[in-house]
Amino acid sequence: MHEMSIAMAVVGQVEEAARAGGARAVTSVRLRVGELAGVVPDALAFCFELACAGTVLDGATLVTESVPARARCACCPGTWAVGMPPELCCPGCGRATDVELLSGRELEILSVRWEDGPAGARTREPIPEEA
Ligand SMILES: [Zn+2]
Repeated sequence: MHEMSIAMAVVGQVEEAARAGGARAVTSVRLRVGELAGVVPDALAFCFELACAGTVLDGATLVTESVPARARCACCPGTWAVGMPPELCCPGCGRATDVELLSGRELEILSVRWEDGPAGARTREPIPEEA
């Protein structure tokens, strides 16, 4: 399951940071998830809970922040909300050949909160894409 490997990657990264920061218990993790990252929030929350079991993250809350997808056309100055399912044809000129995705594929840890450590320790490292 896609969400399971994401959850395990997130837990792994947070665990490492928490250990380095001398955390006793991680209380919450905030994630930025793009609209096109292919993540079902409920499934991710479920997998996150499973992945946390028995680690320093046991019982931690997962907060996901959704990022709307936007695209830009190379042929005209238009940018638009891609939406779901993705609309990759420029609404301005109708072309779909030179479309650049500006946002929507984000999948990154925004912040982590834990006890016995600095609150709100930040990491901006993106999670590697699943092969
Ligand atoms: Zn255009």
